[in-house]
Amino acid sequence: VKDRGGSAISMLTADDHEQLNRKAQIEKRLIHALDRRNLQLLYQPQVNLKTGAVERVEALVRWNDSEVGIVPPNELIPIAEENGMIHEIGLFVLETVCAQLKDWNSRGLDLHVSINSSIREFRDKDMSTALMKQVELHGCDPRSLTIEITEKFALEAEAERSIIRQMQQLHQQGISFTLDDFGTGYASFRYMLLLPISSLKIDRTIIQSITRQEKMQKMINGMVQFGKSLDFQVTAEGVETNEQLELLRAMNCDSIQGYIIGHPMEARELEKWLK
Ligand code: C2E
Ligand code: CA
Ligand code: CA
Ligand code: CA
Repeated sequence: VKDRGGSAISMLTADDHEQLNRKAQIEKRLIHALDRRNLQLLYQPQVNLKTGAVERVEALVRWNDSEVGIVPPNELIPIAEENGMIHEIGLFVLETVCAQLKDWNSRGLDLHVSINSSIREFRDKDMSTALMKQVELHGCDPRSLTIEITEKFALEAEAERSIIRQMQQLHQQGISFTLDDFGTGYASFRYMLLLPISSLKIDRTIIQSITRQEKMQKMINGMVQFGKSLDFQVTAEGVETNEQLELLRAMNCDSIQGYIIGHPMEARELEKWLK
């Protein structure tokens, strides 16, 4: 309800009502969907530019509900972060990925998977213990897992001892961390020294402006060299064209992810794609 004095309710437009309605619907249906494991994961390959090998695949959540329709992650995740259901989503993702890794391993497929985590999940003091418990339960190798955290997450974590401690615990167990959305505007580098991060993923919006101006190219090149000089693996996300790919290759960027390589795919589809 907007606070502009007068009658608050009458200040809401028809659009506001519709939005509030959809959000309430989503929340209600999400509980149901999580209970029934009715969400899906797609996997998007990330390829090493030197060797052409698939370094890892990123797990991305998808939800198509019979009542509210498709709810894209950019709508779903913020709602789940706000109401706390992100914990259940995170658990669903972890369980699904562990089971998938086990299935792949049993068929001789040695893949490494990245999952996305929200800071709210790490604010739970037992996050790292619960996560490791799941990993062990599924007989999954923690070295096959990477957790992607956003720059915003990293900046906030800098001031939260318990989060740093949990990340270090997971790191010691063999799980690696990637700094996602690198370059989107949180210019503090202190967290890079504090957090056990081993790779940087340059944000798609930055990569997509690579061909636009020479200054932009120089800036991206600077980001790649900056990362590499600090021994981070540097990945570019959202690579869509050959021109972008070649520019990144010339900059010695380690790996790329994007439609030029492959869209996010279902596990079976990915297996076919790998052949
Ligand atoms: P992200 O982690 O930055 O993921 C990359 C997004 O870029 C994905 O969108 C992917 O489908 C899209 N993408 C990949 N290659 C290309 C490309 O070449 N061009 C373009 N235009 N887009 C590309 P998606 O799947 O819609 O996910 C959006 C965001 O939602 C993710 O951004 C991530 O922050 C969040 N998210 C997705 N799944 C999860 C999850 O399981 N947990 C959490 N906490 N967040 C998630
Ligand atoms: Ca990501
Ligand atoms: Ca990203
Ligand atoms: Ca992003």
